[in-house]
Amino acid sequence: MILTYFSLSLQDINALEMEKVREIQIYNTLSRRKEVFEPVTPGMVGLYVCGPTVYGDAHLGHARPGVTYDVLTRLFRHLGYKVRYVRNITDVGHLESDSDNGEDKIAKKARLEQLEPMEVVQYYTLRFHDAMKKLNNCPPSIEPRASGHIIEQIALVQEILKNGYAYESNGSVYFDVKEYNKRHNYGVLSGRNLDDMISNTRALDGQDDKHSPADFALWKKASPEHIMRWPSPWSDGFPGWHLECSAMSAKYLGEEFDIHGGGMDLMFPHHECELAQNTASRGKGGVRYWMHNNMITIKGQKMGKSLGNFITLDELFTGNNAVLEQAYSPMTIRFFILQAHYRSTLDFSNEALQAAERGLKRMLQATKDVKELKVAENAPADIAKEIAQIKENVYLALCDDLNTPIALSHLFDAVRIVNMVKDGKQVISQQDKETLEFLLTTITTDVLGVAAEQEVDAADNGVAKVMDALVNMVLEERKAAKANKDWAKSDKIRDDLKAIGVLIKDTKDGVEWTLE
Ligand SMILES: [Zn+2]
Repeated sequence: MILTYFSLSLQDINALEMEKVREIQIYNTLSRRKEVFEPVTPGMVGLYVCGPTVYGDAHLGHARPGVTYDVLTRLFRHLGYKVRYVRNITDVGHLESDSDNGEDKIAKKARLEQLEPMEVVQYYTLRFHDAMKKLNNCPPSIEPRASGHIIEQIALVQEILKNGYAYESNGSVYFDVKEYNKRHNYGVLSGRNLDDMISNTRALDGQDDKHSPADFALWKKASPEHIMRWPSPWSDGFPGWHLECSAMSAKYLGEEFDIHGGGMDLMFPHHECELAQNTASRGKGGVRYWMHNNMITIKGQKMGKSLGNFITLDELFTGNNAVLEQAYSPMTIRFFILQAHYRSTLDFSNEALQAAERGLKRMLQATKDVKELKVAENAPADIAKEIAQIKENVYLALCDDLNTPIALSHLFDAVRIVNMVKDGKQVISQQDKETLEFLLTTITTDVLGVAAEQEVDAADNGVAKVMDALVNMVLEERKAAKANKDWAKSDKIRDDLKAIGVLIKDTKDGVEWTLE
């Protein structure tokens, strides 16, 4: 297998030396404790995150890893690291059941909708991208698809077979968990014990090909009606679900890389199997830090289609779901997610989201107000000290295993000071103001990705900003016409704007406009 990895340029090293290098602690699922982050290559971070299986709309459960690993990436970049963020798209091999049977999730959707499987994949991939963009998540550096890496996956199966940790059975290839467990530890990541796993797994129909119920498929022979199939040395078939992440993470990040992230529900069997595949093929697990975000619950219950409490991101953004009292903006969802530590469960309720909405509003108001604050020569030293301490506390929290709720609570201390200065109850110096601006723009906007929705759109392609300027130019024309008592012209401008979907409203403070 050809492996690529990045190298440091001289320029990068200089940039790094200029940054104050901060120690970052990350909770490693593998060691079950916080560890100081030490990258494989100084100044570089290789991050792999398990992406969605694209057979349905993105839901709350996708928003959490999306936001968590986005903030992690933003933090590393802010601290001067170069990050390669790889997040895959699963478009083949994810079966309905974890025990290697049932239909392929994408093939099933394609059958029900009478579409080509790749039409299903394309449709839901684009919708997933759209939802992630609305949440202000930066796109990954590389987004590989499982179906585009069949050759690499076949090569990986061959390596595992050659090393004696897999066997062929009726055209399928299975990972031999018992054989692997003689020299390695299957269960090391999830804390499970192989004997318990075997006694808890029922042998199901169609599993006769396996030597043990704990074994898992590396390659599956396709049944005659199965559409998604590729030739291999064993059969026309398709790769097992866990295989793609082992193959693609090594291809793009190297045989040893820094961080592997994903939801806690993926820890077993998916990540346990990935780790076993890596070790069985290359003799080492390949990942330094395994990070797992916890789940989102709804009123204390797990979210699930069968439980009737399943909420897609689109429904949240539009309010179109019986569980929802109102629509919630993507930024409210982002803020809500950041208000809990990624390793804690996060319980969804209308009340909690409404509280997040209020908190976000307060913070965004302060990000505007801070720019207008008056400064004084004779600002007291204790306020300078307090503001400097807030900045330090925010960094400490973020570098302590990405503790965003604590960081936000310190940022709200900054908001409180902004409001006091605005109300004339506190005096600050120019330097204090700059620190507050740094906290409420660089940290809040750039690192936490919390920004007013229009700014997210404007940053997207600049269209919103241009649009705003153009409408204001036209409104100036109308103001001039009104001043000249040219009512015909002023009415025509109003009607022409309405015809293209811009509604204007005269208020006592001037003219307001909205898009229809
Ligand atoms: Zn994965």
